[in-house]
Amino acid sequence: MKKLLGVLVSASVLLMSSGPASADAKNPKIGFSIDDLRLERWARDRDYFVAAAGQLGAKVYVQSADGSEQKQIAQIENLIARGVDAIVIVPYNATVLGNAIKEAKKAKIKVISYDRLALNADLDAYISFDNKAVGEMQARALVERAPKGNYYLLGGAPTDNNAKMLREGQLAVLQPLVDKGAIKIVGKQWVKDWSPAEAMTIVENALTANGNKIDALVASNDATAGGAIQALAAQKLSGKVPVSGQDADLAAVRRVVAGTQAMTVYKPLKAIAGEAAKLAIQLVRNEKPAFNAQYDNGFKKVDTVLLKPTPLTKANVDLLVKDGFYTSAQLAGK
Ligand code: BGC
Repeated sequence: MKKLLGVLVSASVLLMSSGPASADAKNPKIGFSIDDLRLERWARDRDYFVAAAGQLGAKVYVQSADGSEQKQIAQIENLIARGVDAIVIVPYNATVLGNAIKEAKKAKIKVISYDRLALNADLDAYISFDNKAVGEMQARALVERAPKGNYYLLGGAPTDNNAKMLREGQLAVLQPLVDKGAIKIVGKQWVKDWSPAEAMTIVENALTANGNKIDALVASNDATAGGAIQALAAQKLSGKVPVSGQDADLAAVRRVVAGTQAMTVYKPLKAIAGEAAKLAIQLVRNEKPAFNAQYDNGFKKVDTVLLKPTPLTKANVDLLVKDGFYTSAQLAGK
């Protein structure tokens, strides 16, 4: 048995070190490892990505880690063993994938970080929306509604590098106003796993701690905005305290129309998924993708494709219908 195991192990090592089994640049195999497909946003990314890659002649193997870093590492190892040509990853935890990605590189697989940057890892490319710009849009929209007063910062998941970039953008707008004495940041918290329930509890506690005197709530995405707005509603404050968001989740867009959420940020998922599929295939074919930025992830300066987000308020939600993101019936709740 021991001997058999040895043979098996060396066979799989051979497979890994000999590079991708298909190495077929015409019909590449792409692994798509997603943090959590149970979320509306990522399921849409998956659908657009599979469609775009299919049109370009690639086959996609999709994996959902269901919010577990162990599961994501195991799934990436599995994709390596299958001999894919590229792996596109939406990391659950930005800091734990370095070794798995090193194994992929040894097997000559191209590795692309999707939407969230994997840190301290040997990536071939990163593709995302400009997260700092998203943070700036969130803060700017709130400052328009509440130029003075108490601000609470509800951050994203501490395991997600985007959460930090969003905070950076938010503070780029807010800090000068804090320095002038116009606004005061009365508290801040990261929300584990971007959980709406956790966001609700945090905001309930923040309201209690501040005697309900919060004038604006910087929520970093629509899921956490939803939790925050529930906590505000329990104090009859929803619609009175502006709350930000991002993703243009259907429920959030309806809240923007109803006036309980001040804004969201539209990130066209069809664009990022389509560009990512193209990028992965170009890398496999050793072609030169059109990068327009670089991000230092602690291991190297990673070549990056950065896409533009758009802030949405009640005044311009129609853009979502024009862009085919929703139908007008969906927005109207029919
Ligand atoms: C994404 C957001 C998303 C959040 C939670 C972030 O990394 O950029 O669009 O709402 O993760 O899934």
